[in-house]
Amino acid sequence: MPTTAPVDTINPPVTSWPTTPQLIPLGIARTDSQVRVVGMATDVPGLTITPALRGTIVTVSFVTITGGWTLTHHGSGRQIVPGLHDLPLAYTAEAAQFLRQPDPGYWTQPATAITADPAIRRTVAELGIQADHAAAGNRPIWWARESWQATSDSGRPQWLLRCAAPLCTGPAGGPAHGPNHVYDWDNDENDSSPLAHPDKAVLATAAETQEWRQYDEQHWLCPDCATAHQATHHPR
Ligand SMILES: [Zn+2]
Repeated sequence: MPTTAPVDTINPPVTSWPTTPQLIPLGIARTDSQVRVVGMATDVPGLTITPALRGTIVTVSFVTITGGWTLTHHGSGRQIVPGLHDLPLAYTAEAAQFLRQPDPGYWTQPATAITADPAIRRTVAELGIQADHAAAGNRPIWWARESWQATSDSGRPQWLLRCAAPLCTGPAGGPAHGPNHVYDWDNDENDSSPLAHPDKAVLATAAETQEWRQYDEQHWLCPDCATAHQATHHPR
């Protein structure tokens, strides 16, 4: 796993939403105690998405929920990615996907074993920086694909325009159906059939009508993913 590559060149991991999303109770470690919360399991054993907290416990609790999310090592209750302290859910889910390891048991190790691994420490530190930069630009941590896709399904060369976000689930709500495309709203039978056209400008106009967001020549986000990557600033 690369540790210092720019965001556009990091290895795209296998991407999907957790296959068996479930809520699990766990304790988030604070200075001298733990806060019990309910987190959402990821499909990376040992890593849990939890509400971001602010504050410390002294003799009474001064901890508040920020409205953002973070990634917690289940075994220790410790925050895994320092940069992911208070970000929208989409970034936390992407970070969990990025931290998938060849060894499925990696994150179930004790925290002391993980923090003693210099490679993973660099990876996690770099991921935190990349996540912060991505959130500042309201874009995913990495691009999963280029949005323009050539097709000749109709017997002539045409273009499709699709969402570049890693976890875009598409119209049917599952990874098997993702990512979203700019759809052909003039198709009376099925308005979720992708719009194919030889002229990119026609697709770009349709994307604007359907409230897509363009980042550069090759990368667009569907309305769902654009909203999911809208970094919010929580009141302090
Ligand atoms: Zn999308």
